[in-house]
Amino acid sequence: MDMMTMNLREFEATQKKMNTVLLPIGMIEAHGPHCALGTDVLIPREFVRRLEEIAGDKILMAPEVAYGHSWGLAPFAGTIDVSAQAFSNYVFEICHGFYQNGFENIILFNGHGGNNSSLDVVTEKLADIGVRSLTINWFIDYREDIKRITPDPGHAGEDETSLVLAIDENYAFTKGVGSHEIPLPKRFRFKDGGAVLYPEAFSGNAEAATVQKGEQLYELLTGLILKDIEMLWELERQQRGTIK
Ligand SMILES: [Zn+2]
Repeated sequence: MDMMTMNLREFEATQKKMNTVLLPIGMIEAHGPHCALGTDVLIPREFVRRLEEIAGDKILMAPEVAYGHSWGLAPFAGTIDVSAQAFSNYVFEICHGFYQNGFENIILFNGHGGNNSSLDVVTEKLADIGVRSLTINWFIDYREDIKRITPDPGHAGEDETSLVLAIDENYAFTKGVGSHEIPLPKRFRFKDGGAVLYPEAFSGNAEAATVQKGEQLYELLTGLILKDIEMLWELERQQRGTIK
């Protein structure tokens, strides 16, 4: 169910029959010279569209949070960075609002790596007030599966670029982009480090991306994501014996 287009009465009816909400979370930031600035919003949006077709009768699809935290890519034009503290407080308050509306299961569908540590803070605070949550970081959780289709993933790398191309071929290009490997593990931090680690604001082999690989990734990952969501409901069943 799409919350954005619901009216009050429809929402009240939805509250009575479901208690799971999915909140997409993205970022507006530089994605190489070749991918849309909204890549981390566009990809979760496409997953949500596919999940809605399969499980829309059991999940409320909430409007997305398009701005997140990106310390690493902040030196680049087009990155609109929100501090980790403000971002985690904001996402927590949104989730708290859903909890007050009867949604005890919250799925955070995250499209951006820089958000991860903030979302850990959010879900720990949510657990403490009684919310069950599942955070989906698709690029980490299914990385080994992703590498079978796109062996050289990364930030605006082969995987993300393929996923963007599969949405709309006008949102990315591959010709002449090339490939870039990060020279240091991300645990090294120094001023404007992102600009050194990602000189062109991307990593991985973007040039190898294709629409077909993107389509394959959507199909594979949508199935894996649904399995994880089923596990969230199984957790709920175990905790109280029934499910709405
Ligand atoms: Zn991205």
